[in-house]
Amino acid sequence: MNHPSRATAHPAAGAARTGSKSLILEGVSKRYGGVQALDTLTLAVEPGELVSLLGPSGCGKTTTLRLIAGFEFPDTGSVRIDGADVSALPPNKRGLGMVFQNYSLFPHMTVGENIGFGLRMAGAKKAHIAAQVTRMLDLIRLPQYGDRRIGQLSGGQQQRVALARAIVNDPSVLLLDEPLGALDKNLREGMQFEIRRMQQELGITSVMVTHDQEEAMTMSDRVVVMSHGRILQSGAPREVYDRPRNRFVAEFLGTANVFACRVSARSVQSMTVATLPESGNAPVEMTLSLPRALQGDLPGTLEVALRPEKIAIDAPKEGHIRLRGQIVQHVFRGSQHSYEIDVPGLGPRIYAYEQAFSTDHAGHARGQAVTVSFAPHDVVVLEPDGVPAAAPDASIAPVTQAGPLASEGAR
Ligand code: ATP
Repeated sequence: MNHPSRATAHPAAGAARTGSKSLILEGVSKRYGGVQALDTLTLAVEPGELVSLLGPSGCGKTTTLRLIAGFEFPDTGSVRIDGADVSALPPNKRGLGMVFQNYSLFPHMTVGENIGFGLRMAGAKKAHIAAQVTRMLDLIRLPQYGDRRIGQLSGGQQQRVALARAIVNDPSVLLLDEPLGALDKNLREGMQFEIRRMQQELGITSVMVTHDQEEAMTMSDRVVVMSHGRILQSGAPREVYDRPRNRFVAEFLGTANVFACRVSARSVQSMTVATLPESGNAPVEMTLSLPRALQGDLPGTLEVALRPEKIAIDAPKEGHIRLRGQIVQHVFRGSQHSYEIDVPGLGPRIYAYEQAFSTDHAGHARGQAVTVSFAPHDVVVLEPDGVPAAAPDASIAPVTQAGPLASEGAR
């Protein structure tokens, strides 16, 4: 499990280029009146890494972004870019690029003028601006659009221009605040790949806030799940999805079947649990590996999680757990069949997804008796509430300099 503050080389941060900057928030707190918006939050973003902040409304995502941007200042803790403490600097001294949901383009300017705006403000020469605008238009795949007015562009094209304007100055860090929130689903998916391509090509260290979990998983090297101003879990999308720490993360990121198990035996790294007995199915014993945080004392009953796509229906495999159930509901979603299944011992509403590989398979009908099966290694033991997060990582580098970043142009 990744710790949020980990500052050692991230396996997914392969997009770093010479000049990519690190971003570190260390012990950052922010209070608004009676609301603790951020509570000693520590997050290290590797050079070239794209990190997404996820969490329910009010968990502190926007506040985190605003503190990085310099629109707010922390009550405690520090924000460091490339080792320099920028906590007290105004936004225009931090050398950041920003993209917002509403584009914030200048309607009276052409596409080219919008893209070149930051360079003009920084006093760059005309020839340099023209060359950079051309480079950006190529990068966003709108090479012929430099002279168009903003009103003559589609939403997706406007968002590309907003992105170009944010990155033309080679920002130290790119902040993306719901960048695709205003686009419809099809366009959104295309743009997710586009933004990711550009971010990786340029190796820009980036932080994105989104409400869309799929978007976060598609685009990010790392997702950070927040709640009440704290980080609950941080890791590669696959890792957080497959190995959620606790019930909140399991249920926030995708769908999870969570059920209680009685602990019947344990060793240091694993334990044997039994599902709770219920009429219809005898308790099932499984041996599960224990997350490190639970390798000390354990309660007698624990919750475990199982993703719907890990459950097979009427297709048991050797060594898999098998239980009897009954289909309660079946929904066809195009690429998959979704089911609610009553499985005594697990619960009355177990969700299971089946890929719709074949048009011959119409799915299992409501009321049908089925065998559900799953591999014990797909069952994740969840930390009960109150298990403290690991201690902050000691590998965060010390502050090396203070004051404005030397190389970045103001914006
Ligand atoms: P959403 O997903 O709804 O945008 P969020 O995760 O971005 O939510 P924040 O906007 O960071 O959440 O807000 C965190 C908490 O701080 C909330 O309880 C919010 O009401 C409060 N808050 C944020 N800004 C202010 C402010 N300027 N004054 C008072 N309270 C604020």
